[in-house]
Amino acid sequence: MNELQVKDLHVEVKGKEILKGVSLTASKGEVVALMGPNGAGKSSFGYALMGHPDYKATKGRIIYNGKNITKLPPDERARRGLFLSFQHPTELPGVSIANFLRTAMNSTRDKKNPIPVAEFVRQLKEAMKALKMDESFMHRYLNDGFSGGEKKRAEILQMALLKPEMAILDETDSGLDVDSLKTVAEGINRLMNKNTGLLLITHYQRILRHVKPDKVYVMMEGKIIKTGGEELARQIENEGYESIKVSKDGKIPP
Ligand code: ADP
Ligand code: MG
Repeated sequence: MNELQVKDLHVEVKGKEILKGVSLTASKGEVVALMGPNGAGKSSFGYALMGHPDYKATKGRIIYNGKNITKLPPDERARRGLFLSFQHPTELPGVSIANFLRTAMNSTRDKKNPIPVAEFVRQLKEAMKALKMDESFMHRYLNDGFSGGEKKRAEILQMALLKPEMAILDETDSGLDVDSLKTVAEGINRLMNKNTGLLLITHYQRILRHVKPDKVYVMMEGKIIKTGGEELARQIENEGYESIKVSKDGKIPP
């Protein structure tokens, strides 16, 4: 019940089928890694889960907490506890981090009960400190002129404040140096608990050394071609994606 279940999901982008029958389960309290080479369809999967209008589910279902959410708009999915951090976060010149985050928090709350400003600032400062972000950042325009690493921290900052039940993080490790990777990974681990689920989309295994996956799915050409535990991520690191390209029946997936 307390989980995300994807069943035979087919997704089309601009008339082209990108996902060709993806099934995956992520339960609360669990870290699930979705790995795959560039162009496999990982980001498209994240967008489809969140309900991006360009990523159309043509077949299959997305079930969350026992409810079919395949047709719900993104804001409704967010209210139900889903969160997606983008591989390439959007720049919003003119919108400060503080304003953006306060609006985002209030949009998931009852309209008559917005978060008091002082309480918001307290939470924001605490989360920024944990992510080793300078407080001055709260007044900067969201992602405007941010380095790759700063954008990723800003995504995790958003997650820290919104406290989603099911977070989908798309390549949060890309473009991070070793120290930033550790800080971001610690930030993610701090947010995990038995009521929070995490779907970690990643090309490389390195973030999985800091955020331990319970399950690993490997996607290639729009399909899940292998499922396993942490050892599968290590195999990919050592031998590359080519080593697992051959499926159980000995055929290379079409
Ligand atoms: P990954 O995240 O695994 O690298 P993507 O989901 O970004 O893979 O891309 C999978 C395929 O879908 C690629 O061939 C990509 O060009 C295509 N694709 C994704 N989004 C779009 C889009 N908005 N318009 C056209 N093609 C897209
Ligand atoms: Mg991607």
